[in-house]
Amino acid sequence: MSTLKCRIREGSMVARIAAWKMGSGNIAIVFGNVIHLHGVSRERFLANTAWVRHEVRHVRQYREAGFWRFLWRYVRDWRRYGYYNIPYERDARLAEANPRELEGVEIR
Ligand SMILES: [Zn+2]
Repeated sequence: MSTLKCRIREGSMVARIAAWKMGSGNIAIVFGNVIHLHGVSRERFLANTAWVRHEVRHVRQYREAGFWRFLWRYVRDWRRYGYYNIPYERDARLAEANPRELEGVEIR
């Protein structure tokens, strides 16, 4: 199995904008293999295993679909179904409880 490499960016401007849009204090948002954080430190994020599994699943989804196809589908489905029912979000929520989700994952 190939390694899934992820990176973390703290104090991210895009995450700050997303937090404001979502009306949320702390947020993680993934672009490609980079997990952007706002309002939460790297340490606190990594201590929350369910949250890490969720965001890592998004990195996998990007890798499977390709960067632009993922974003296009995500935005299309947000409009169609609403945020909570976006298939990529449903899949990521299921990943939160998967103990094997982080196997072969490297987070820098
Ligand atoms: Zn998500």
